[in-house]
Amino acid sequence: MSNVILKKINKVYPNGFNAVKNIDLEIKDKEFMVLVGPSGCGKTTTLRMIAGLEEISDGELLIGEKTVNEVAPKDRNIAMVFQNYALYPHMTIYDNMAFGLKLRKYPKDKIKSKVENAASILGIEDLLKRKPKQLSGGQRQRVALGRAIVREPEVFLMDEPLSNLDAKLRVQTRSELIKLHNRLDTTFVYVTHDQTEAMTMGTRICVMNKGEIQQVDTPKNIYQNPTNTFVAGFIGSPQMNFMNSVIKEENGNVLIEYNGLKLPLTKEMASSVKDGGYIGKEVLMGIRSENILIDKGGFEVTVDVTELLGSEIYIYYSINGEQFIAKETHNMNFKIGDKITVSFDESKIHLFDKESGNKII
Ligand code: ATP
Repeated sequence: MSNVILKKINKVYPNGFNAVKNIDLEIKDKEFMVLVGPSGCGKTTTLRMIAGLEEISDGELLIGEKTVNEVAPKDRNIAMVFQNYALYPHMTIYDNMAFGLKLRKYPKDKIKSKVENAASILGIEDLLKRKPKQLSGGQRQRVALGRAIVREPEVFLMDEPLSNLDAKLRVQTRSELIKLHNRLDTTFVYVTHDQTEAMTMGTRICVMNKGEIQQVDTPKNIYQNPTNTFVAGFIGSPQMNFMNSVIKEENGNVLIEYNGLKLPLTKEMASSVKDGGYIGKEVLMGIRSENILIDKGGFEVTVDVTELLGSEIYIYYSINGEQFIAKETHNMNFKIGDKITVSFDESKIHLFDKESGNKII
């Protein structure tokens, strides 16, 4: 078993800063768990505590059912891949990959077969005699992975391993890492601030903000059912649109009103807002850009900006100074200054409490 369990883990740095606050997280055996959140939210600190590179201030950490708070990093059966790859510049690629095994006094032939096997998994057999400076960024990144693979760890820990690669290579390496995870069939814990990486790679995603976990779920559930406005705004591109709206009941029908536009709520939504006592109250309505209907009635607006991405176009417009982004995949002919009408698919709206930001339904 190579699950990782964090129980009420806290990190207070010596300057008194509480970087990770009482987090509970169970990373399952063989799972690809992505920790994602904005800069400074505590994801690297969390990963470094799992690795044993940062002391845990409070709480319990278990790897493979064993409490490891006091276990040295080298005895935790984990391997970490860093953002800067941390290769030894004076050593050949072979020696870089073999280094950890030599330290552990593996026999020479065993080291050779492990390094060759990892090199063939990663397609870097031809590079073994070179030095790191003779490699491209993408090749160095593979070597850093290779160094982790030869150790056959129970858990791979990765801190933004793709951030030094150019955009094209990043996309390519993303899918290679997914394949690698399947092939190695072991637990990956992966840190990124990039929500697209999180969405495409994670079997589950843990969204963090300000040292706290906001939501842990599959990419699909997080996208479709965000637990609060932070997660709703952070996951998904373009960002979810939010509108200050009011819940009303008219002639027995529960509806939501935004700027004079009244939308009936679905049965399920209506009973949730009623039960929650939201009739007559302000709420935040969220709508994803793909659920904004264009030229099907509603408000007349002027297109402020368009961004053509090939197979889709982002259309920016504003209502009363609030900016919205709609996404269209059929008609790509919108231009700045065009008059369009916008409305929403009411079955796709999200409702959040205005004060707490938590989802109502
Ligand atoms: P990034 O994506 O920018 O790396 P992160 O989510 O990984 O961000 P951490 O590196 O875990 O964030 O840092 C969390 C918070 O802890 C930040 O506010 C950071 O400034 C603070 N921090 C990190 N290391 C220390 C330290 N040694 N002493 C004091 N505060 C620290």
